Formats: sequence, structure tokens, C-alpha cells
Amino acid sequence: MTRVTVWSEHRQERSDPAVAAVYPDGIHAAIAAGLADAGFDVRTATLDEPEHGLSDGVLAATDVLTWWGHVAHAEVDDAIVDRVQQRVLDGMGLIVLHSGHHSKIFRRLMGTSADLHWREAGERERIWVIDRSHPIADGLGESFVIDEEEMYGEPFDVPAPDQLVLISWFEGGEVFRSGCCYSRGRGRIFYFRPGHETHPTYVQPAVRRVISNAVH
Ligand code: ZN
Repeated sequence: MTRVTVWSEHRQERSDPAVAAVYPDGIHAAIAAGLADAGFDVRTATLDEPEHGLSDGVLAATDVLTWWGHVAHAEVDDAIVDRVQQRVLDGMGLIVLHSGHHSKIFRRLMGTSADLHWREAGERERIWVIDRSHPIADGLGESFVIDEEEMYGEPFDVPAPDQLVLISWFEGGEVFRSGCCYSRGRGRIFYFRPGHETHPTYVQPAVRRVISNAVH
């Protein structure tokens, strides 16, 4: 059975009532619940645990790591970033979610700023499946809608993806490369855009489907 570690910084859920109202047990708990429902062997890890919950033993027992961070990227220890990077190069899968675009591990693996445009206005987002043969698109239709999300817009400062599976459209007019696949060493990386902390995005079936397909 595929072993997944769901990592999150778990800060805003404890400091901001608006976030706690959406994710009372933490964003990681919602992501982990979706993956457990999909049949994976799931554990969670968070920033304030010793070694951020990512000891050598945990990483050695992880086939796929998912990463959500936002306000505390700078607090992630560089030695742990080194360790995660090495595991990716050795073949661990990495799924970087939403504001994880600015995490140390994603920027290091991309080699770019990963900057983008953003706007917190609870806008409608339509995610278009543009590579319908890709395994991450399995079971999705031509598109799906998230009623309220933060906008992320191009230009997104990342290398051209090896495969681009999803593109988002926002009601404000922007578009964004929302589902990007990369390989680094023997590891495969997937960046998936949605998941702002004040919206219940990670309980949506289509969003959970994308993440579980990516773990597969
Ligand atoms: Zn956000």
C-alpha cells in the first residue's frame, strides 16, 4: 500500500478563528482524510513537531509527501529541506499544494522564485483538464468548479512543466497553470494550485480526486 505523509505548517488554524472554522483539526487532517478514504496508508506531520515530523525514519517510510505551507516557510529548517530534497531525488513523490509554491523545498527543486499574482476575493474558479490522458485526470470531466477561492494568476515563475494537466480560469479574468508535473532525479513532483485556508477546498470531491490520483 502506498504510504503518504501529509505535511502542513498548522499555524493559521490555531491563530485565526476564520481558518479554524473551516479546518478545525488542521488543513493536514482534511487532506489526510481524503487520502485515507481513497485507501492510502496516511500519516501527518507538522512544523512544530521535532524535526518538523520529518525524521529520516518517517521519510524512509514515505512513498509520497504532500506539502502545504503559507506563513512560516522561513521557519522550515534548511537541514530538513536538504533531507526532503534528497528523498525526492532518490525517488519519493512530492505534491506541493497551493501556497506551498513559496516553500523552500519547491523553490529549490524548481530553481526559480515561483512568484505569481494573487488576490483574496473569494472568486469562482474553473479548473480545465487539458491533458485528459494523464493519470492525474482520471475520473475528472472536462472541467470542475470551485465556487470561492483565492485567485492565483500568471505569470507563474516556474520552469515549463514536463506535463501540464490542469489550467485554472478565474472570474476576474486571470488564468493559471494549476496542475504541473516535473521530475527531478528519480522523483516526481506535482504542483496543484487550489487550497486557500479560508475556503473548504480540501473537502471537495474533485479536489480530493486530483490529489489521490497524483499520489497514485
Ligand atoms: Zn492562499
